[in-house]
Amino acid sequence: MIQLIRGFKDILPGEVELWQHIEKTARDLFEAFGFKEIRIPIMERTELFARSIGEDTDIVEKEMYTFPDRKGDLLTLRPEATASVVRAYIQHKLYSQDPVQKFCVVGPMFRRERPQKGRYRQFYQIDAEVFGSASPYVDALLVQLLDTLMKRLGVTDVTAHINSLGCPACRPAYREALGTYLSERREALCADCERRRERNPLRVLDCKVPACREAVAEAPALSDYFCEDCRTHFQTVQTCLTDQNVAFTIDPKLVRGLDYYTRTIFEIQTSALGAQSAVAGGGRYDGLVKMLGGPDTPATGFAIGFDRLAEIVAANRGDYTLAPQLFIAALGQACRARTYGWSCELGRAGIRVEMDFSDRSLKSMMKRANRMNAAHVLIVGPQELDNQTAVLRNMQTKVQDEIPFDGLVDSLKDKLR
Ligand code: AMP
Repeated sequence: MIQLIRGFKDILPGEVELWQHIEKTARDLFEAFGFKEIRIPIMERTELFARSIGEDTDIVEKEMYTFPDRKGDLLTLRPEATASVVRAYIQHKLYSQDPVQKFCVVGPMFRRERPQKGRYRQFYQIDAEVFGSASPYVDALLVQLLDTLMKRLGVTDVTAHINSLGCPACRPAYREALGTYLSERREALCADCERRRERNPLRVLDCKVPACREAVAEAPALSDYFCEDCRTHFQTVQTCLTDQNVAFTIDPKLVRGLDYYTRTIFEIQTSALGAQSAVAGGGRYDGLVKMLGGPDTPATGFAIGFDRLAEIVAANRGDYTLAPQLFIAALGQACRARTYGWSCELGRAGIRVEMDFSDRSLKSMMKRANRMNAAHVLIVGPQELDNQTAVLRNMQTKVQDEIPFDGLVDSLKDKLR
């Protein structure tokens, strides 16, 4: 039997209802805050991701699904959504429609990472991106949105970690100071960090290898190098979060793995998923739109790991499966013919109805209705057909009512609503 690809997964009925519930909660929230959905393709030219995410990142270096298509164009399955949203924003000149625009994306992403709990090769993200505002209020708004979503989903075991990466005016001086600090501790660094040290020293700060953690414990702090604008920006973000009762921790070692961030970055972390602590992450990327050929446009955004969020919500809550409100047990062809139209009419009226079209016995139909958790069963056998009266059994109370065929659909609509 052919199995699914390692690191990929099926989301089966039973679990899918939970995903729908999460997606709906997120979409309702996005709608209230003026985010518009944008649907972008699952594949782009490799160059788009290489340039935006950064050549020295784990994603571009070792995780992308890249292949030449039949004409030799180098294509990549999207490892994240931001680059494509920026591409679409520039390509369709969306900036000419309104100075500030908010988009959301829900869909699968692909990274060839080592699969483990909370880490897959096809995973899903819920993304939000805001273009055209450099205001710290927008950064705070995004963290507040994530906080609200978690609360609405009943997720409590999470903390917002925030940091600022400075801007092109103040980061170079910090990079240099950090570079000098790290060059004095070269022997302690892992092989990856030894490579990062020169090309992207900030990434050494969030390496998970214990020796590297120890090596950077006393590293200079970026906040000591902030320019005046970066300092007030970060301060305003914190004030907004405090005012809105969003709990947060300032995490000076948070850098996130992508190259395009400037100023505020954040992550929603949990201890519920073992090694995979990040449920969502994002930040400001003021330089990216211009870097990809668009007008100079500040931007900020986040991505929620849908799979991880679903795992946490599932652990907190029970079953989201919607059971049938009515199960029609018709015994024999004549009864089936008489009741079939009712099942269609009730379904069209929005009642969750299930009908058994087989020749199973009443006993086995009742068993099936029970397994499906049906609230009521409508029993129509030869005797009911003779009397022109069906039996409606409440599966919880076991009380049985007689319902005349005449006007049956209307009286069921009333009873089951
Ligand atoms: P990133 O785009 O790397 O900032 O990721 C944003 C969020 O997506 C993370 O916080 C995770 O929750 C989720 N995520 C990233 N990579 C994976 C993966 N391989 N499997 C499952 N979730 C992931």
